[in-house]
Amino acid sequence: MDGDEILCKLCESKIIVYYHEQYNGDRGKCPICGVDFPLE
Ligand SMILES: [Zn+2]
Repeated sequence: MDGDEILCKLCESKIIVYYHEQYNGDRGKCPICGVDFPLE
């Protein structure tokens, strides 16, 4: 997924991808509407 832009399904803003230590994996978060979801 290198370089891929993920867009929020609700507002179509660019998703911020970050590493979640407790979840032990990548997650995405929308800065506009605040949705947070696993990237798998
Ligand atoms: Zn959004």
